[in-house]
Amino acid sequence: MAYSKCASCNSTSFESSIETPKNSRYKLQFIKCASCGAVVGVMDYYNIGALVQKLAKKMGFDI
Ligand SMILES: [Zn+2]
Repeated sequence: MAYSKCASCNSTSFESSIETPKNSRYKLQFIKCASCGAVVGVMDYYNIGALVQKLAKKMGFDI
């Protein structure tokens, strides 16, 4: 299996940080290279999968 690596510095270590981009009203979760800080991905602040699972359980679905 190939390892994920930073396209800028070749590091294989990543971290996430919650940030609100300029002119945005919403927090986003950035996945960044732990060495140089290059952003490699952006996700919603909330974990949508966990929220959907929580809602489904409240609605009586057995998931
Ligand atoms: Zn890097």
